[in-house]
Amino acid sequence: MSKFKITKVTAREILDCRWNPTVQVDVWVNNEILGRADVPAGRSTGANEAKEIRDGEKRYAGLGVRKAVRNVCEILGPAIIGMDVTDQRKIDEKLRVTDGSKDKSNLGANALIGVSLAAARAAANAVHLPLYRYVNCNAHILPVPLLNLLNGGKLTSNDLDFQEFCIFPIGAETFSEAMAMGNAVNNELRKIVIKKYGKIAANVGDEGGFATPIVKVDEAMDFLVEAVGRAGYEKEIVYGLDCAATHFFNSETQKYTLEGNELTTAELLDYYKNLTAKYPIKTIEDPFAEDDIEGFVRATKELGIQIIGDDFLCTNPDRVRERAPLGAGNALLWKFNQIGTLSEALDAAELSYRQGFGIMVSERSGETEDPIIADLVVGLNAGQIKTGAGVRGERTSKYNRLFQIEAELGSQARYGGRDFRAAF
Ligand code: PEP
Ligand code: MG
Repeated sequence: MSKFKITKVTAREILDCRWNPTVQVDVWVNNEILGRADVPAGRSTGANEAKEIRDGEKRYAGLGVRKAVRNVCEILGPAIIGMDVTDQRKIDEKLRVTDGSKDKSNLGANALIGVSLAAARAAANAVHLPLYRYVNCNAHILPVPLLNLLNGGKLTSNDLDFQEFCIFPIGAETFSEAMAMGNAVNNELRKIVIKKYGKIAANVGDEGGFATPIVKVDEAMDFLVEAVGRAGYEKEIVYGLDCAATHFFNSETQKYTLEGNELTTAELLDYYKNLTAKYPIKTIEDPFAEDDIEGFVRATKELGIQIIGDDFLCTNPDRVRERAPLGAGNALLWKFNQIGTLSEALDAAELSYRQGFGIMVSERSGETEDPIIADLVVGLNAGQIKTGAGVRGERTSKYNRLFQIEAELGSQARYGGRDFRAAF
């Protein structure tokens, strides 16, 4: 007989950081242990992500999630009642089979992932372990935060074509020190952007980076470099980009529109070669569009830095299995709601590791205060996390959870640092 029996599953509609509704799920074990999880939402999404369900009614501009909540309470919940909550793979399989579609569109990926994550939390609580240790008894690596200090693309209202301009404090000694460095650079950056563009320049975008009305990639990079210089961290900090190129690719012309120029894959690659020669950029996410395999292969071979697949891989084990062996990218952006269950996301991570890939655990642009990715990035020993700038509560909740984990691990904690792809 199961010792940790799922006895009740409930859900409700809550809000994410964009004032859009999202799903929160409660999984109860033996009527006394609770696991709760919130579901984040993307805006710059890939076409191949698992599909969330939205109500499409007048309220909340069509974005209500009452149907998804009903699907949890009336279909998915009852399907897993009585199961052992520590049986994560079986629970996730049940969720998948109950949904019955390939992309979770019948009952909603937002319904499935909520149940899957709440079950994992409930299981960890049932066995009295923090979630990071429940998923891995060898969890000990604190991630390097990829701090998104300037926002562009779909995540803000300026005209920058790339979505995220980040600093990457690989030379810090600890996670805590990295966050203090990030603060110092952000303080300098605020002064720099205000001096050039006025006070409005310091308003922030969806992920907490400044939404400065910059147009040119080089200007954004120059600002970051100047801020890092003024803070005195040139030796400790390198740079990262999420180009989110799917969103400036025209599938009809097969060209990329960057700063008003129409570029082929080869021309965009040349652009990246010049950019990475000019600035110490060590990681680029989605430099090419979600199905531009040739672009990813050439970028990986010819740029010699970390090339991360977000829309390109969609945390999907099938896409990792097909694309990683081609040398298309060398790192996975890990977002569990792109695939819809925790076990499948863990499969995508494991397959990626076995191909020599790095893993960047990631927020979504629409987050809640739920810090679950903090536990999961340590549980995966991934060594890298992307969860925005430290000026919005739904981002600081992750950083604050990482401070707690760092303290809990004490002398066993190891910071990803310069070995962020494989820091053991
Ligand atoms: C991203 O593209 O990496 C991102 C975090 O944005 P979203 O959640 O909108 O996909
Ligand atoms: Mg991305």
